[in-house]
Amino acid sequence: MRALCWNGINDLRVETVGDPGIVNPHDVVLKVTMSTTCGSDLHFIDGYIPTMRAGDVIGHEFMGEVVDVGRDVKKVKKGDRVVVPSFICCGSCWYCQHDLYSLCDNTNPKAELQEPVFGYPTAGIYGYTHAFGGYAGAHAQYVRVPHADTDCFQVPEGLRDEQVIFLSDAVPTGYMGADFCNIHPGDTVAVWGCGGVGLMAQKSAFLLGAQRVIGIDRFPERLKMAREQVGAETLNYEEVDSVLEVLKELTGGRGPDACIDAVGMEAHGTGVEYAYDRAKQALHLHSDRGDALRQAILACRKGGTLSILGVYGVMDKFPIGVILNKGLTVRTAQQHGQKYLPRLLEHVTKGELDPSFLATHRLPLEDAPRGYELFKKKQDGCVRAVFLPN
Ligand SMILES: [Zn+2]
Ligand SMILES: [Zn+2]
Repeated sequence: MRALCWNGINDLRVETVGDPGIVNPHDVVLKVTMSTTCGSDLHFIDGYIPTMRAGDVIGHEFMGEVVDVGRDVKKVKKGDRVVVPSFICCGSCWYCQHDLYSLCDNTNPKAELQEPVFGYPTAGIYGYTHAFGGYAGAHAQYVRVPHADTDCFQVPEGLRDEQVIFLSDAVPTGYMGADFCNIHPGDTVAVWGCGGVGLMAQKSAFLLGAQRVIGIDRFPERLKMAREQVGAETLNYEEVDSVLEVLKELTGGRGPDACIDAVGMEAHGTGVEYAYDRAKQALHLHSDRGDALRQAILACRKGGTLSILGVYGVMDKFPIGVILNKGLTVRTAQQHGQKYLPRLLEHVTKGELDPSFLATHRLPLEDAPRGYELFKKKQDGCVRAVFLPN
C-alpha cells in the first residue's frame, strides 16, 4: 500500500510499504477514506520530539471502512464506516473504566520510553513516535485499529467525511477543553488559538452554555472563521498593546470566567524531554507560544478556570504563584475521545455542530508532503489539509 513516511527532519515521502493485517483478535483493519494533518505532528516533523525512526508511517486523525475483522471483535463488522479517536484505548483498564482514555494503561508497549519523564506511561497513539507506542499511522491506504470495539465509532448515515473526520481529534480535544471549564449560563470563555482545536473549543463552549466566547489569534483568516463559523468575538493580539487590558475591558473589569490555551509550545513537544537539544529548547522558551499560557493565567478572572489543551513539555518559569494567589482551577489532558464521541456524533447528526469548514485543503495522499507544507506555513489560508488515500 501507499503511505506517508517520516524519513528525517522535514523529510516526508509517500512510499510503498507492507499492508497491515490482523495481529490481535481484537483488531480490525480499515481502508482509510480520509485522514488529516494535525499541529502536534509538526513537533516531530521539525525534529523536536525524539523516538521517530526513518520509515515510520505518520498520521493519527482518520476514518474509514472496516475491511478485516479479528475473531474476538463483537460490535464492529466488515463494511462499517467508522471514525477513530487518536489515542488507542483498551476499554477495560482502570483508566478506561474511569473515562480517562488517553491515560490507558495497556496500549503503550514501549512504556519504558515514557516512564523516566512522566512516571507512568500514557496510552499509545497512531503514527506518533515510538515513545507513544510506535504504532503505524493513518496517512495510508490501510491502518490496523487495535481494541476495535472500544475505539471504532459508527458514522451515522447521511454525513460526509469532512463532517466527521475532525471527531478523531480536534473536536473531542476542543470539547473536552470546554467541558473542563465547568461553564455556567452567562459565562465568558476566552480561547487562545483559532486553529482546528481552538475553533472547536470555542464552538463547544457555546454548546455547553457560554454566553460569550472570545477567540484570540493573529491570523486574520482564522479570526474571520471564529467570527463567521463559530460566532465568537475575536481579538488579534498583534493589533493591541495588552491582551489583558482588552479582555478586562470586554468583561467589565472582571476577566473571562475561563481561559482555554489551544496554542501550546510547539518546541516542547509532548514532554519526552530527556533527548532534547538544550539549545533549541532554550531558544523556543522565548517564542510567543509560551506567552499564550502566561497571558491566559494573567487574564483569567480570580477563581476562574484555566484549561490547557496546547501541547507542552516541561516548562520553566511556570507561574504557579499566580495560579495560587488567584485561586485558579487548572484542568488539562490529552483528549479522552472515547468518552465524548457518542455525544459529538449526535451534535453533528442534529446539525448543531459542523466542523467541515476546517478542511480548507483536500488532496490525494500522493500530495501529502505538500499538504503538510501548506499546513505548517499556514499558506493559502490552510487550517487543515485532508488526504484521500484511496
Ligand atoms: Zn491531532
Ligand atoms: Zn485502558
